Amino acid sequence: VWNNCLRIIRENIAEQSFKTWFEPIVPVRLINNVLTIQVPSQFFYEWLEEHYVHVLRKAIDAELGTDGRLEYSIIVDKGNDKNKPYVINIPTSSKSANGSHGNGKDTKVSVHAEKYKSPFEYDSLENAHLASYLNPQYTFENFIEGDCNRLARSAGYAVANKPGVTSFNPLMLYGGVGLGKTHLVQAIGNHIKNTASNKFVLYVSSEKFTNQFIDALKNNNMQNFTNFYLQVDVLVIDDVQFLAGKERTQEIFFHIFNHLHQAGKQIIMTSDCPPRELKGLQDRLLSRFKWGLTADLQQPDLETRIAIIQKKLQAEGIFIPPNVIEYLAHSVDTNIRELEGVIVSLMAQASLNRKEIDLDLARQTLQNIVQHVDKEVSIEIIQKKVVEHFGLTLEELRGKSRRKEYVIPRQIAIYLAKEHTEHSLKSIGYHFGGRDHSTVIHAIQSVNDMLKTDQEVKAAIQSVQKQLKLKMVK
Ligand code: ADP
Ligand code: MG
Repeated sequence: VWNNCLRIIRENIAEQSFKTWFEPIVPVRLINNVLTIQVPSQFFYEWLEEHYVHVLRKAIDAELGTDGRLEYSIIVDKGNDKNKPYVINIPTSSKSANGSHGNGKDTKVSVHAEKYKSPFEYDSLENAHLASYLNPQYTFENFIEGDCNRLARSAGYAVANKPGVTSFNPLMLYGGVGLGKTHLVQAIGNHIKNTASNKFVLYVSSEKFTNQFIDALKNNNMQNFTNFYLQVDVLVIDDVQFLAGKERTQEIFFHIFNHLHQAGKQIIMTSDCPPRELKGLQDRLLSRFKWGLTADLQQPDLETRIAIIQKKLQAEGIFIPPNVIEYLAHSVDTNIRELEGVIVSLMAQASLNRKEIDLDLARQTLQNIVQHVDKEVSIEIIQKKVVEHFGLTLEELRGKSRRKEYVIPRQIAIYLAKEHTEHSLKSIGYHFGGRDHSTVIHAIQSVNDMLKTDQEVKAAIQSVQKQLKLKMVK
């Protein structure tokens, strides 16, 4: 079955991605339409869920039918005992097919046809209590503090030590994708669970909350649903932007929120944008969110990114040379999830090709991953096409030489990087042999000037743009 799935997947994604993300997967078992596959790490699992959920679903649908299910088993292997990996099963999460924002209806979105067990379906509260749905890997210890997250982290820490007692109730954390919201709120939950074990902590995504609510409506189970939530001491509800437009779900949430808040229970929420921009949420709900503290998570700066990479590597027991770490931190500057994905991909490449992780391998790997920062293409690919066009080597392009036959192609490549990626000037400079941002600005200006007069330069730029299928300069 897995081989058939692989065939379908292969037809739908690039060969390189297939190699990196699907070849390392080991099928484990197939029982009652549940296929379990083993993946090398937590990152790997998250990356698959983030980027390949649709193609996985497609393959599972074709092979097992629409109620087929996929489970991941993750090898938690710290490198010391390779024969005894311990394995945890994580049911695939259902994901909205149209992004995280609601479609205005209380419909059940399920790409993965997940059959989760609603917590309120547990036979006793004790059992549900055990299932806080917290991932123990998300802790304060491995959450790197930086200017980007200082307020959110310290507010979170205060709440974790005195849930329901501080004025940070609710605690509302917001920020873009992959900036650590889920990690931080889970860390709060884990901390409370470990230090105040009598407290019933519950983590739930807004999507799951919505689906539970719809199930409860369907099965005439509303009483159980509400009662269950009213017993929670600490409610962590992730990605509330998902509730947008879902009037009835908001209504029940409003009710639960008020009840818990009045009883001095702690509520922690996250959202991908500031509350005032949460379109499609009722005003009465939004006004509640402002009762407590709202804090944002921003993009991490370079030093924080380096620290995060180091921490991750340390946790995985992997060594990567400092120049590679620096290269990665410079190259992926939008979001930490991407950064982790690149590291996993790099590790996978290294083990597949039995190579050491070095700068060359890192460059090659990044060439094949188009990230959000890349907007349309990566700097690496631009560089490759430019040197091909001019018959240079990458070293000549990135090097220090001021010879005219290097300088113009270099400036053109810099210009294209600025036009077609979202890398900062600093980051672009780094990728061109560590030039500073004033050199980058100068290069872009020179090209703009040349474009007005020099037909040859213009033709070169257009040719590279054409090859890369980019919008061309006029
Ligand atoms: P979000 O929920 O905001 O989309 P996540 O909490 O899922 O983001 O974070 C994405 C990944 O980045 C996770 O693996 C998380 O552990 C990691 N991460 C985010 N911020 C930090 C940080 N400050 N220190 C260490 N790891 C982080
Ligand atoms: Mg999240």
